[in-house]
Amino acid sequence: MAKYSGSDCRICRRENVKLFLKGDRCYSVKCAFDRRSYPPGQHGERRGRKMSDYGIQLREKQKIKRIYGLSEKQFHLFFERAERHKGITGTNLLVALECRLDNVVFRLGFASSRTQARQMVQHNHFLVNGRKVNIPSYRVKIGDAVEVRERSRKIQLIQDSLDAVVRRGVPQWLDLAKDNLKGVVKSLPVREDLTMPMQEQLVVELYSK
Ligand code: SF4
Repeated sequence: MAKYSGSDCRICRRENVKLFLKGDRCYSVKCAFDRRSYPPGQHGERRGRKMSDYGIQLREKQKIKRIYGLSEKQFHLFFERAERHKGITGTNLLVALECRLDNVVFRLGFASSRTQARQMVQHNHFLVNGRKVNIPSYRVKIGDAVEVRERSRKIQLIQDSLDAVVRRGVPQWLDLAKDNLKGVVKSLPVREDLTMPMQEQLVVELYSK
């Protein structure tokens, strides 16, 4: 299945939850979910449809996949790797998604959304441990330092995003030195660090069918 290329706000309305996919707009009065918190489409306002277990599991998978902006194939690969690791598959999956470089760039506040973070990583704006990395799916490890390259430090988008990051905060597993435009991975995230409403167990159940 191809990656979704429609409106981000439509996804929030479809999943019936604010997914914060559009940076600052999500915190403003322009948020489409706040204005129309019912599913999109002709019959969107008709609520109360009962969903099957499969439907609920599918919606949860779609939601998590879209939070991280992955295609079905990419998401399934993450799931397969999570399954191979020791521990709880659902937690492994979320931790692996959080450790993607594009997500870390977003979490540190160098970008206002994961989509923006992905583009910036691809455009070579970041170093990991002093080396250029332009692969959004690059998995960070404990002790890795992620910093904005010298030549990119004056980009207004980065400055604006850093100013706005106070609103959502930097997670405790990352350490941001705002003045140096540098962040360090202090530890791996644990489930409690992930505050978005995600029921990863439903994804495990879906893929285990
Ligand atoms: Fe979702 Fe609102 Fe952000 Fe649009 S503006 S992506 S509806 S949270």
